[in-house]
Order: sequence, then structure tokens, then C-alpha cells
Amino acid sequence: MSYPGSPPPSALWRLARPLMRAAEGLVFPPVCVACAEPLPAMAERHEEANWFCKACLNAIEPQLPPYCSKCGEMYDGSFTNTFRCSNCEGLTLEFDFAVAACAARGPVRELIHRFKYGRRLHLRASLAVLLSRVLEEERLRNENLCQWLLVPVPLHPERESDREFNQSWELCVRLAQITGIPAAQVLERIYPTVKQAQLNRRQRQENLRGAFRMRQARWWQRQASAPPDIQGRKILLVDDVLTTGSTTSECARVLKNHGGAEKVVVITVARG
Ligand SMILES: [Zn+2]
Ligand SMILES: [Zn+2]
Repeated sequence: MSYPGSPPPSALWRLARPLMRAAEGLVFPPVCVACAEPLPAMAERHEEANWFCKACLNAIEPQLPPYCSKCGEMYDGSFTNTFRCSNCEGLTLEFDFAVAACAARGPVRELIHRFKYGRRLHLRASLAVLLSRVLEEERLRNENLCQWLLVPVPLHPERESDREFNQSWELCVRLAQITGIPAAQVLERIYPTVKQAQLNRRQRQENLRGAFRMRQARWWQRQASAPPDIQGRKILLVDDVLTTGSTTSECARVLKNHGGAEKVVVITVARG
């Protein structure tokens, strides 16, 4: 996959890359990230076959139509005009639509768990390669995505320091490298997660109200960078897993109402 905005690799890099790959292969022989089965010598690391063995690739369940045009929940058979999605019926979802690359089962579920809770940061590269599948979705593939912006679902600072990184931001950074789509952390989480287990879906949604806001000017000053222009912009809101969509919906509301975003599409590696 190449995008018009991808920076061309420099001549030196083009020359050095195969040598570096060969040296890396001697020191760290490539193995499947899911099951540690040895892999053939690596070629381009943005291809799934360089991360997963055949058996694991076959065990990954892609999210394919028919699925809900709003929340991406997959359904068997074909839709009728009166179709109502049992996941998002009764919820007001503020994003335009959500798409996931695969089901949160088997090797993908396991990988995400190790990535997030086992602090295996190196797994972000393979997960970003899986995530890049969603950009081929029929509503996205003809868009000039380099004009869009990748935005991560933020973690509360306390949670981020416990986990040592924000998994959504790490996925954004890698996806930006693969595709050339710019990425920026324009949202922040100002209230930590409150226990939501006893709440129903609607109460969960209300519970999240006010948990996020646009990053303030002083944050950008501390980063010594300028905030990207969000007004009228189309956003790819990135997370690792989407379940009900309540969290991403609240982020989308802030991006639209306070940031002025024109459109927010949620993309996730997995669908829970
Ligand atoms: Zn494997
Ligand atoms: Zn739905």
C-alpha cells in the first residue's frame, strides 16, 4: 500500500536497508509474533507474512461484510431494510462509522493482551500492519487519507504512566509510518476510568460525558509543536479494540463539537 503523502526513502536508506535487514536477521531470526514459529527470511515488514506464520494468519478472523454500517458489528446473512443492530440500537453514537480489521479472538486477542497488559511494546508493529487492513474498506479506500488525521483515544495520565505507554498512540505512530497519514494526540482524558461494570449501556455513555477534551495550548507549548488544524478535518480515531463504542463516541463528540472536525471514523485492530 502506498499513499501520495508517504515520504520517499532517501538514497542512503535505500542502500543501507537490505544490509540492516540481513544483519538483524542473523541476530534475531524472524519468528511469528503470535506463536514464535520460525519464519522465512524477512522482506518488507509492512506485509503480514513477515509477522505471522501461515497457521496464525489463517486463525485471524477478518471483519467482513455484512456488518452494521454504524458500529461494524458483524452479522450472518443479508440485511433487510428494517435491520436494527443489537449492539448500537438505542445508543447515540457520535462517530460516522466504525470499522475493525479482525475479530478479537484467537491470536489477535492474545497479541493485544500481551501488548497492553504485558507491556510488549514491540508488538505494536505487527498490530499496526493488521490495523492497516481497515483502510481498504470500501468507504475509505477511495478517500485521500493523507488529508485526514490519525488521532488516538487518550488514556488518563495516571493509567498511561502505569502502563508506560498509550497503546492507541503507539498504533497511530506505526500506522503513520506505514501510510504517511499524519498523526497527533489532540485529545486528552481528564477524568480517569470509573467502574462501569454495574452500569447499562446508556448509563455508561452518560458516565463518560466530560471525560475528554481537546489538548490545551500549554500542552502543545511543552511539546514545542503547534496543534494541527482540526476545523473541517476528517479524523481516523484509533483504538486497539472496539466493543460498545461508548468511549470512541464520546471522543468523536469532542472532536466534532469542540475541535470542529467534519467527520470521525473509528478504526480498530479488533472488534470485541
Ligand atoms: Zn504463528
Ligand atoms: Zn451497530
